[in-house]
Amino acid sequence: MADGRVSLDQLNQKYLDCHIYGHTWRVQRGQQITYGRNNKPVETTEILHCGRCTMKRKDTYMLPWWELKSRRYEEPDGYYLTRPEDGSRHTRRDARAERFKRMVGE
Ligand SMILES: [Zn+2]
Repeated sequence: MADGRVSLDQLNQKYLDCHIYGHTWRVQRGQQITYGRNNKPVETTEILHCGRCTMKRKDTYMLPWWELKSRRYEEPDGYYLTRPEDGSRHTRRDARAERFKRMVGE
C-alpha cells in the first residue's frame, strides 16, 4: 500500500461505489464569506462532504460572478488506486467489473 493507494481488488466497497456512481455530496458548511472594501462580499467558500466515502471538497467562488477560484479534495486513506502494470489508469468500467465480480463471483 504505497502512499495510501490500493489496488482495485483491495478497494473498500464504499469507495468502489463512489468510483462508479460519484460522490453523495452534502453541504457540511455553507458560505464562509470573505468581505472586501466597502464591506462587499468578494469570495465565498463551501465545504462538502461525501456521506458514503467521507471525501471532503472545498470550493471557493469569486463574487459576484460565482467563478470557481479553487476546488480541493481531501480523500480518505486508501481511496485512490494504484496504476495498473501497463501504466494506464483504471476506468469506471474496471470499477463496475470489480463490483460485479464481488457480487457474482465472476
Ligand atoms: Zn464518496
